[in-house]
Amino acid sequence: MREMVLTAYEYQCAFCSYDGMIGTLPVGLEAAHVRWWAFDGPDDVDNGLCLCSLHHKLFDKGALGLGDGHRILVSQHFVGRSPAAREHATALAGRPLIGPQPGIRPIASAHRSWHTSQVFHGSPRPTAA
Ligand SMILES: [Zn+2]
Repeated sequence: MREMVLTAYEYQCAFCSYDGMIGTLPVGLEAAHVRWWAFDGPDDVDNGLCLCSLHHKLFDKGALGLGDGHRILVSQHFVGRSPAAREHATALAGRPLIGPQPGIRPIASAHRSWHTSQVFHGSPRPTAA
């Protein structure tokens, strides 16, 4: 699952494009389940995202989510006033997901809706656009 998902997203965070390596080994990149494994989420590429450690945590805690057109949702419950929190979280609202590479199935809408209804907190912040 891990290698499959990381390859599908070309070893980049699907939210921020982080792609750190030490030598040839990715560091701080993880394969995230959209629908959690403990809640019948399959180990399939269309239920996985390659995320950096920070975005994996924010996604699993429901601060970030996936909206229509595979755009990033940021919860109105998430608060971070520093420039770092703004740059790494709130500024993502409405941005399109990065990846997967052509020919790979994107996140299945059933898994996306599960995450939105079971994990994502409250309403998404409005986007700039
Ligand atoms: Zn990231």
